[in-house]
Amino acid sequence: MRPHVLTPLFASVTSIKGVGDKVEKLFARLVPGKAGHVRLVDLLFHLPSGIIDRRDRRRISELPPSGIVTIEAVVGKHKPPPRNQPRLPYRVEVHDDTGRLSLVYFKAFPDHIQRLLPEGETRYISGAVEWFRDEAQMSHPDHVLSAEEFARMPALEPVYPMTAGLSSKVLAKAMLAVRERTPPLPEWQDSAWLRQQHWPSFNAAIAEAHAPQSPEAAQPATAARQRLAFDELLANQLALMLVRQRMKRASGRMLRGTGDLRRKIIDALPYKLTGSQAHAGEEILRDMAQPQRMIRLLQGDVGAGKTVVALLALATAVEAGAQGALMVPTEILARQHLATLTKLGAAAGLRVALLTGREKGRARDEILDALAAGTIDILIGTHALFQDDVGFQNLGLVVIDEQHRFGVHQRLAMQAKAGQTPDLLVMTATPIPRTLALTVYGDMDVSRLTEKPARRLPVDTRAMPLSRIDDVVEGLRRSMEQGVRAYWVCPLVEESEKVDLAAAEDRFAALEKAFPRRVGLIHGRMKGAEKDAVMAAFKAGTLSILVSTTVIEVGVDVPEAAIMVIENAERFGLSQLHQLRGRVGRGSAKSSCVILYQEPLGETAKARLQIMRETEDGFRIAEEDLRLRGAGEMLGTQQSGMPVFRLANLSIHGELLAAARDDASLILERDPALASPRGEALRHLLYLFERDEAIHLLAAG
Ligand code: ADP
Ligand code: MG
Repeated sequence: MRPHVLTPLFASVTSIKGVGDKVEKLFARLVPGKAGHVRLVDLLFHLPSGIIDRRDRRRISELPPSGIVTIEAVVGKHKPPPRNQPRLPYRVEVHDDTGRLSLVYFKAFPDHIQRLLPEGETRYISGAVEWFRDEAQMSHPDHVLSAEEFARMPALEPVYPMTAGLSSKVLAKAMLAVRERTPPLPEWQDSAWLRQQHWPSFNAAIAEAHAPQSPEAAQPATAARQRLAFDELLANQLALMLVRQRMKRASGRMLRGTGDLRRKIIDALPYKLTGSQAHAGEEILRDMAQPQRMIRLLQGDVGAGKTVVALLALATAVEAGAQGALMVPTEILARQHLATLTKLGAAAGLRVALLTGREKGRARDEILDALAAGTIDILIGTHALFQDDVGFQNLGLVVIDEQHRFGVHQRLAMQAKAGQTPDLLVMTATPIPRTLALTVYGDMDVSRLTEKPARRLPVDTRAMPLSRIDDVVEGLRRSMEQGVRAYWVCPLVEESEKVDLAAAEDRFAALEKAFPRRVGLIHGRMKGAEKDAVMAAFKAGTLSILVSTTVIEVGVDVPEAAIMVIENAERFGLSQLHQLRGRVGRGSAKSSCVILYQEPLGETAKARLQIMRETEDGFRIAEEDLRLRGAGEMLGTQQSGMPVFRLANLSIHGELLAAARDDASLILERDPALASPRGEALRHLLYLFERDEAIHLLAAG
């Protein structure tokens, strides 16, 4: 149970006066929230990025080219829009002895403005200056105040990262309420360490971070911000170590194969294993033969050939008389793996079956019976594998593909299955920069596939503005005449699936017109069987172009697809672009990736597309992504599956991570059940940062 004292922080923001569903939606664009709901704690962790200093008063003749300023001025003439042109703005002239400025209001209520700005009176006005043909103006000033009101206003105001449609006044008010309702929390950090770092308490740090007294104080390097970052990193490390402590405690089993099945499979492969596939295979084999439980990560860029490594590990489990499970995040991928493993495993007589949400009734019962009887060697499936009634006769090895798509929770559920403690191999294509690996895996053992299968050709990557889309379609026509197949991925326009879908449907309709009956559409809302049919037609070549939302991102393998078009690529993260591009360049034909972008491009977007053109090295791309976007943003994306850090920014607070790790391991060494007074306080920390899954592990002992 969450400590009572934290309850107010987990209330919905709609419990704040003046915040309704509409404002909550706007907040949801700023902060992660939970299941679409924003809680007070989410705003609490939304920290200012700067300040407005209203003491910085300017004469009109000295106004800067841009930025927030405060002036003291006399109100002059009002110029409402002419009656027949109500769309024009309402303007009010103001002046001091050095010059003039106009205040601009769109869709104004004249009464309101006349009350706010009586002609001839002095007002303190603050807002963003703009220049229009050498004339200074300010549209919708933040504040228009009389002398008395101005005296009562805070001289310094924090500036928060904002989203369109949200007013800073509404956010400021909500923030005030959040801070008032933040309870005093017990100290969970070591007091000697706090003293040494000169860090304030959590409550003091929060207060300082939300009310910076200088521009520097709003930056992430202050003592207060470091303390908060450290809190978050410690919660992360502690949770990881608890999970790991629990996993290791379960002792493993020895899975020693005869090598028979492996040999048969390898002999029948249509290619030769790469050096790193062979090497990773040996590392896995060695772990499996140990009495301790294997917990190993197999990391390899898209197309590196992880599947066959998994198959060989599974074959070893089967040689040792056990069964294996292969878990994947999507139905499409499950079916693809079934096809691959059945084909490659045929030489060894492996019995492979599939279990997804779609196997129901009789068919499902039959699979479950065979599984319990041991007549299925390898079961491939999606989340359906977690269900309670899925029981293996003798589960020896679990492989989780594209593991970043699964939560810690699901991984644990799989392991808890029937009290068995199978060896665990997790595979990921997400290239994780070194700094981040620690936050996600703690000290898991890692095998890396560093080589790509030899015959892979580099992908020719080109970036073009959307305005040249007709040229791209013409290019497609020529390639299609030579039998080439293409993916066309539509943009992630909004968080909403509906909008994405509309974009994909429009593109599908347009391409279908250009290439009748050759284009397919696939998206997340389709039924499983419909998706399969489209995928199958694309694989078989009856369809030449596959238009999709990002559902094809993960793991799909169609070697004949040699063109990847990514529309509005500027909206995708670098790592995501890299994953998408990894879908082509798998066959023997020369492949290309066309990155279509919307003009004008910002600097960061330009830099990103440039990197895509320069390199296909997933690690370098991940490092650059981190550099360009900052860890927070990269980690925040759903796709990355990485922890979302809200207070820590690894490019700034990176050195604190190692300290947090050492601290966490010391804590668990001394107080493995978190039962001491500090342990009690640390439970607050884990709940505050929503690492409660880890606490349940504690409770379970
Ligand atoms: P990923 O690591 O992205 O899961 P896959 O396992 O899907 O990659 O493999 C990508 C492609 O490379 C598949 O078509 C597979 O048949 C092929 N492949 C795997 N290993 C080799 C190899 N050693 N030589 C040639 N092709 C290989
Ligand atoms: Mg794969």
